Amino acid sequence: MVSRVIPVETFDLVIFGGTGDLARRKILPGLFRRFCSGQMPDNAAIIGAARSEHDDAEYRQIVRDAIVEFGGAQAKRDAGMLDGFLEHVSYVAVDIKGESGWMALAGRLRGDVVRAFYFSVGPSLFGDIAERLHAFGLATSDSRIVVEKPFGHDLESARTLNATLAKHFAETQIYRIDHYLGKETVQNLMAVRFGNMLFEPLWNSQYVDHVQITVAETVGVGGRGAYYDKSGAMRDMVQNHLMQLLCLIAMEAPAKFDPDAVRDEKLKVIRALNPVDYHHIVRGQYAASDHDPSYRDDVDNARSTTESFIALKVMISNWRWAGTPFYLRTGKKLRARTSEIAVVFKDTPHSIFGEEAGRHRNVLSIQLQPNEGITLGVTIKEPGPGGMRLVDVPLDMTFADALGPDAEEVPDAYERLIMDVIRGNQTLFMRGDEVLAAWAWTDPLIQGWTSRREVPKPYDAGSSGPEDALMLMHRDGRRWRDIRA
Ligand code: NAD
Repeated sequence: MVSRVIPVETFDLVIFGGTGDLARRKILPGLFRRFCSGQMPDNAAIIGAARSEHDDAEYRQIVRDAIVEFGGAQAKRDAGMLDGFLEHVSYVAVDIKGESGWMALAGRLRGDVVRAFYFSVGPSLFGDIAERLHAFGLATSDSRIVVEKPFGHDLESARTLNATLAKHFAETQIYRIDHYLGKETVQNLMAVRFGNMLFEPLWNSQYVDHVQITVAETVGVGGRGAYYDKSGAMRDMVQNHLMQLLCLIAMEAPAKFDPDAVRDEKLKVIRALNPVDYHHIVRGQYAASDHDPSYRDDVDNARSTTESFIALKVMISNWRWAGTPFYLRTGKKLRARTSEIAVVFKDTPHSIFGEEAGRHRNVLSIQLQPNEGITLGVTIKEPGPGGMRLVDVPLDMTFADALGPDAEEVPDAYERLIMDVIRGNQTLFMRGDEVLAAWAWTDPLIQGWTSRREVPKPYDAGSSGPEDALMLMHRDGRRWRDIRA
């Protein structure tokens, strides 16, 4: 029941950083899956461009290894198609900061096809690539560029980055990736909200008690310690991923499902966010456990005050949401790997069944990880002769069940987003002003705890975060949903 695959237009896709971690882990296996699904046209070209010297054959071997390692079950099943896919792949060694390789790359590009450049390199190189694409005549007025997070470190740096890209590319050519937006469930959230009459009348502070957004990881900072310690959970997760999820829950219905209409509505939400009182922010750092080092050991900085966990209570000042808190939390080394948005509805105004029947609430749970799906908790009578007792049962809209054996064919976020780039559809990409508005809200919070010299609270690996985060909700007579996979 997966929607019919419509091949995209023929394209030349250049992956700067084509030998890097992201390209090998996500971009190339994703492109292979699109190839297997029949979405890639016959004469599409994928050109890896990176610093090291390889000929086409060597690069194809790198791509083959990456697909075998990271392509999952489907790549194993479709291994017979790998040779066909690799015929689309070639390589040019390019020095992004120098002159070499650019003319050779120009020679590989065709004039009459969609042209896209994926900047899968550190953000310090974005400006150099943009400049040289222009200087060597590789960028046409219709070319697209794809840029990865982090998009800036604060408002100032994000402004600079926007300005650097804007020197050579129009906003309609710039695709800022937030892979959370490419998830099937995130788009389904919009379908559920705006394709049904059922939810929208209840989608406001009169009926919604609160919203919880949790993105929990079980891993620590791993090999990214040096980068992460300069960033922290607020910059790494809240400013982009959690903010985007909040926008999709809170935004008004756009007039149509078109890139600027959707992004205009998201921007209004970000601009309506209240500054967060410091009593409503809890930051944490994972402590050492029996087997594992602490956050400070992991980042090799004994005095680090960077947070590996953050929880916030966020209020939105507009007619729809005034009075309904949005509780956000994200962290590393937590109990389970899960991403969930829970819309918790208010209690019925009066229980006709009496207190002994129990009180229950409807919760719409949108699960993004590890499995994608949407569940609505509905209260019914407990079956059997035990009198009128109430229980919650889930109305399950999990794709694996609804779509049957085809469910595993649902494209991964990256591959869906790359196809959107080729199609020229920016709906699921962040616009420059959205990114700036998100930083404008984030910056004062970070400045606040920096100037107060706040030290994050320690929490145990495998827990739900620091005690204070539980208190953040207990004080309001509410509780977090369990973190479980
Ligand atoms: P990486 O260090 O593994 O790869 C960097 C790539 O850039 C390599 O191919 C390298 O050859 C190339 N490169 C570096 N300097 C160059 C130069 N001067 N000239 C030509 N090529 C050069 O990095 P990564 O993990 O793949 O990350 C790439 C981008 O994606 C970063 O902006 C990162 O923040 C972002 N990102 C990565 C992940 C991930 O899972 N790895 C997730 C989200 C975002």
